[in-house]
Amino acid sequence: MSVFPGISLKPDVTEFLKSVFLNNEVIAAVGREGAESRFQKLLICLSHPPSYTCVRASTHLTPLEEIRHKLGEELRKKTFKSSAEDSTVQIFTHPQIPDVLLLPVDGPRPVKQLHPEVVVGAQCGSAVLRGAHVFVPGIIASPKYMKAGDVVSVVSDLEAKCTRGAKSFLGKKAFVGNGVAELDRSGIFCTDEPAKGIGVRMVEPLYLSPSFDGVLPSLAFLQNLPSVVVGHVLGPRPGERILDMCAAPGGKTCHIAALMGDQGEVVALDKIQNKIERVLQNAQMLHLRSIKAYCFNSIKAVSSDSTQETEGPPFPPESFDRVLLDAPCSGLGQRPNMGCAWSLKEIRSYQPLQRKLFHTAVRLLKKGGILVYSTCTVTLAENEEQVAWALDSFPCLTLQPQEPHIGAEGMLGAGLSPEQLRLLQRFSPELSWDQGGIEGPLPSRADRDTIGFFIAKFLKN
Ligand code: SAM
Repeated sequence: MSVFPGISLKPDVTEFLKSVFLNNEVIAAVGREGAESRFQKLLICLSHPPSYTCVRASTHLTPLEEIRHKLGEELRKKTFKSSAEDSTVQIFTHPQIPDVLLLPVDGPRPVKQLHPEVVVGAQCGSAVLRGAHVFVPGIIASPKYMKAGDVVSVVSDLEAKCTRGAKSFLGKKAFVGNGVAELDRSGIFCTDEPAKGIGVRMVEPLYLSPSFDGVLPSLAFLQNLPSVVVGHVLGPRPGERILDMCAAPGGKTCHIAALMGDQGEVVALDKIQNKIERVLQNAQMLHLRSIKAYCFNSIKAVSSDSTQETEGPPFPPESFDRVLLDAPCSGLGQRPNMGCAWSLKEIRSYQPLQRKLFHTAVRLLKKGGILVYSTCTVTLAENEEQVAWALDSFPCLTLQPQEPHIGAEGMLGAGLSPEQLRLLQRFSPELSWDQGGIEGPLPSRADRDTIGFFIAKFLKN
């Protein structure tokens, strides 16, 4: 597994995260050595991609088996150019989730770094590890005499320290594969208009996963497995009115609308206007008409006049049958993530913001309604501690069982009882460490070897 070292974080962020995973409750349960080992595994897991790519199938438009078949055909044509090549693409269904297709990722493969280096940003490096080519905006440095057609090795700048336009870089970096340059160096850095398109076409990526660029856009939506679980846990029903408070780019919004058979109303809010355009584009691409998207600060989404019905925000209290708060978070569960340059202050800034959003969520939810809170991070402060705070602050809320529950239970350390922890769902990739390689049993490996993620489900009494 450990081709490159674990995720590179600022020293104080590593210490903070270590204190989370080696908290007193955890040490009392599994011992210091067990806790330390889990933490080290987490750091390495985070820097590698999950071992399955997850696709959410538009079963509101076409039956799952038909989508699976079409996807197999499309990817076969794209991946294997000549019919002489052996050409099957493995695609698995999930026994508990009816709209999920899983494709194994092959890697890390024994690819050697032999060529002059093209340096890319950490985000671009992560995309390459998930099957993408290198797009020009992701390139930070390239060899002095690089010409289109040159074979190059692509490395990811782990600490965001490489200067744009540099010809070489000696800082901390990780090799992600070999490719062929599509442009000369001057075509990347010496242009009046910023260059677009593919800069390096990957031919020997460290991880081989199918590229979904333009493949069945209305039927196959790339989405991490825990994110698909969120939609099912929320459990929307046709005819209901649902609020997705932090919606962009709209993966979960569209899933909610699809689960409702596009019957009812899904209100999507996000505070950034161009992200709202993405929500609307995704809704259109997936042929969903029940979604209404607004650019709005969700903290202010409750109107002071509780009688006035308006179409858009702010809304009167108790306007929604279900609310999803997929909160802005420190994102430390994202994979692959080889380097995060965030400060501890930035990471700590999310807990108060999430609490403000949570207040609004509770006020906008009808009595008897369901609130789902989720994050893609691994800290206690943004997950179990938020649940403990919410149960304390809002006596009207009770934790509910989740269906499906394919992740682990909540983590010790926030003072929650064993019963409460069992009702939470934490996706902890480090727990998949000992389950063998890609041949490990499905679905348990695919269920555990995911991004780090957290889900809590509440009923408002
Ligand atoms: N639910 C989305 C999906 O599945 O595609 C991902 C949401 S992402 C985790 C969090 C989003 O919250 C970002 O798009 C961010 O712009 C938005 N956001 C942050 N603060 C907000 C606020 N006060 N009001 C509304 N949206 C906010």
